[in-house]
Amino acid sequence: MNDRTRKFVEADKQCLWHPFTQMAGWLEGVPVVIESGDGFFLVDTEGKRYIDGFSSLWCNVHGHRVKRIDDAISDQLTRIGHSTLLGLGQSRSIELAEKLVEITPEGLDKVFYSDSGATSVEIAIKMAYQYQQNIGNKKRTKFVALANSYHGDTIGSVSVGGIGLFHSIFRSLLFETYFVPSPHPYRFDGDKYECCNYCLAKLEEILKQHGDLIAGVVVEPLVQGASGIIVHPSTFLKGVELLARKYGVLLIVDEVATGFGRTGKMFACEHESVEPDLMCLAKGITGGYLPLAATMTSQKIFDAFLGEPSEHKTFYHGHTYTGNALGCAAGLASLELFQENNIIASLDEKVKLIDEYFAKFKELPYVGDVRHKGMMCAVEIVRDKTTGESFDASKLIGAKLCRAMWDKGAMLRPLGDVIVIMPPIAIDMELLRQLLDIVHDALKNDLPEIIK
Ligand code: PLP
Repeated sequence: MNDRTRKFVEADKQCLWHPFTQMAGWLEGVPVVIESGDGFFLVDTEGKRYIDGFSSLWCNVHGHRVKRIDDAISDQLTRIGHSTLLGLGQSRSIELAEKLVEITPEGLDKVFYSDSGATSVEIAIKMAYQYQQNIGNKKRTKFVALANSYHGDTIGSVSVGGIGLFHSIFRSLLFETYFVPSPHPYRFDGDKYECCNYCLAKLEEILKQHGDLIAGVVVEPLVQGASGIIVHPSTFLKGVELLARKYGVLLIVDEVATGFGRTGKMFACEHESVEPDLMCLAKGITGGYLPLAATMTSQKIFDAFLGEPSEHKTFYHGHTYTGNALGCAAGLASLELFQENNIIASLDEKVKLIDEYFAKFKELPYVGDVRHKGMMCAVEIVRDKTTGESFDASKLIGAKLCRAMWDKGAMLRPLGDVIVIMPPIAIDMELLRQLLDIVHDALKNDLPEIIK
C-alpha cells in the first residue's frame, strides 16, 4: 500500500460511515479507494484498474470520463451550476423534461424532478395518495407492493419495501402496505407460468378484498434488483397492469434500476407494452454521473392537482436540488449518446454472449441459478444444487468471491450469495468477454477454495 492510499484509508476509517456496510468489518478490512475512472474501468489509489462490473451501483451507462458528458457538464458550468425550480424555470431541466416525455411510454406527460431513486418513489407515492384525495376517493389511502421489493431508503419507499433484512427493523415507523408474493421462479415449487399465475391470483385476492382502500400498486418492472435480481416471468407485469385497471388503482412502476436500457429496451415497461400512471427514474438518467431523478406522470393525474390555492390541491413537495442543471445537462448528453451510438440495438449481441457464458456457469458446482433480463444479470451460489439450499449467510461466500474477482481486475458487488453482473450497457464486446471470463474463473477456481 502506498503512502497516499494509507492516508486515505486512515482518514476514511476515522471519518466515514459507509452505506449498507457493517462498519465493524470495514474497520478491520483493507478498503479499495477509487480515485479515477477511465472508460469502463475504475482506477484505485494504487493505480490498479478494475472493470466496472456493477456500473458503480447500477447507474453508469456509457462508461466513465465520457467526453460528450464531461463537456456537457463543463459547458453548463460556464452558465450556472444550479438554480431552483421552485417558482422559476431552468433551461436545461426544461429540455431534459421534453426528451423524457418523448422517450417514455405513452401517457407519461409530466416530469417532477428530484435527486435519488428513493425520492422519485416517495414522490410517486405521495402523488398517487394526494391524487386520490383530490378527486374525492378519500378512502383510497393504502398501497400494494411485492414481497422482495426494494424502492429506496426513505420512510415512504421503505414502507413499500419487502426485504426483511433491510426493512423489518423500521416496521413500526412505516405506513401499512399490503404485500403480495413476487414471482421468483427459482424459488417456486412449480413452473414459471404457475409461478406467475399464483402471484397474480394473490394480487387479485388483495384487490378484490381491499380494492376500494387502495391508491396504487407499486412494482419494480420485470426485475426485482436489490433482492437478488429476481427476474419475473414474462406477462407478469402486463397482468399487474390489467389488474390495476380492473380495480381502478394507479400503477406505479419503479424503473430506477431497470430504466435507460438495462433490461435490453430503453424501459422495462416496453417489453410488455405497459403504460403506467407513474414511473420513477433515477440511476442511469444522467448516464451515472450525477444525482438526478424524475417521477413521470399523466396529464390526468396532473390535472387533478389544478385549482385555486384555497382548494388545497397543490402538491407541496420539493427538494433544494430539484432538477439540478448540471444533472440535466449530463442527462441530455447521455440521451444523445444513446441515439448516436445505437446503444439499445447494440445490446442484442451482448445479451447473446451473456447467454453463452451463463450456460457454462450453470454447469459449475455450487451454481444454483443463473438469470438475467438484458444486461441485469445474476449468478446464485448455493450449497446444494439439487435442493437449492443456501450457504449460511454468515459465511459471506458472495462477498469473498467478489473480493477474489477484484484481485483479478473486475469490480463486482454481491447481494448475499447472488453475484450481480451489471456492467455499463455500452461496454464493448471484448471487455464484456473479459469480465465474464473473470467471473467464470472465480466460480471455477476460487469458489471451491472459499467454501472449504
Ligand atoms: N428503486 C430501485 C428499483 C432501486 O434498485 C433503487 C436502488 O438500488 C432505488 C429505488 C433507490 O435509489 P437510490 O439509491 O438512488 O435512492
